[in-house]
Amino acid sequence: MAPRAQNAMVMTLWHIRKPLDALASIYSLYNGRSKTTEGGRNNNNINMENIVAAAPPRPIFSLPDEIHMLIIGNLPFADIERLRRSCQFYRNLITPSLVWAIFSPNLRSTLLSHCYKCLRHDPDRTKLLCPDQLNPRYPLSSRCLDCASRDGYLVGGRKVVLANFTTAWVCHWCGYPAPWGDSSRVAPDFHSSCYSKFNTATNAFYLLGTIQAMVAIVTPALCWHLYARIPSIMGLSIAAFVVSLLSTAVSAFRVLSGGDRYLRTYHISVILEASLLAMWSGIIYTVIQQQVLLPENVGLRIERPNWYAVITFAAINM
Ligand SMILES: [Zn+2]
Ligand SMILES: [Zn+2]
Repeated sequence: MAPRAQNAMVMTLWHIRKPLDALASIYSLYNGRSKTTEGGRNNNNINMENIVAAAPPRPIFSLPDEIHMLIIGNLPFADIERLRRSCQFYRNLITPSLVWAIFSPNLRSTLLSHCYKCLRHDPDRTKLLCPDQLNPRYPLSSRCLDCASRDGYLVGGRKVVLANFTTAWVCHWCGYPAPWGDSSRVAPDFHSSCYSKFNTATNAFYLLGTIQAMVAIVTPALCWHLYARIPSIMGLSIAAFVVSLLSTAVSAFRVLSGGDRYLRTYHISVILEASLLAMWSGIIYTVIQQQVLLPENVGLRIERPNWYAVITFAAINM
């Protein structure tokens, strides 16, 4: 670019930005030009970065009110409200009458289709809860589903009224309302996709429970069969079997009584599981002691795969 054209552009930029301190700006301008001098020759190039740095922008509040109004008049409601909540200047500038003038005659429906907390806009009102008409900020008193979920407002298995005046069950799986059409035909308090996930998880839970029950029965039986002549293993395995039954009964009791909403038994379960851990650890230690540390104890005559199986099942029980 020709030096004259570049200088003209730089000066235009400088005028547009209108530095508050003109003297400092001009000083920085010439200071910047001297830095770009190469080999003692002045190449008449003005450093544009120095110009920008020397001309600090004026605050946006210094714009005339007409410009503010022009900008605000082209913003959606959510941005205007965010602006109004940002500082006292805009709170004073954006009055209710101004908002009414911008959005009239659709102001009421505009407010009803926004979340008052995060200002999410939902023109269909399917992702908003029905606004509370007793709230002083009504009609801007709807919550979106995200805000309602975050505030603990949605409880699985209960019905809620959406902002489009339809009712929906709150899904047990994801915790969001399942409106008619999205809900499962078999279980309306689930989304269709959530119900299949719930079924998969339930099946996996019962499968694991069955495996655990089998292991809890097989391991003591192995101990009783192989180590009937060692009182410590017999005693520990019988105690572990009884505690396993107790732990299962406590879990079943909790489920049948309606979950932790009615009866808290987790502290009992923790104590039982900790005692099981100690018992099976003791059995593993005793088996290893008998088979490895006391090889002269030939009276047992237990094959290596058998006592390996006892240790493996005991570890699984832990
Ligand atoms: Zn929200
Ligand atoms: Zn769901």
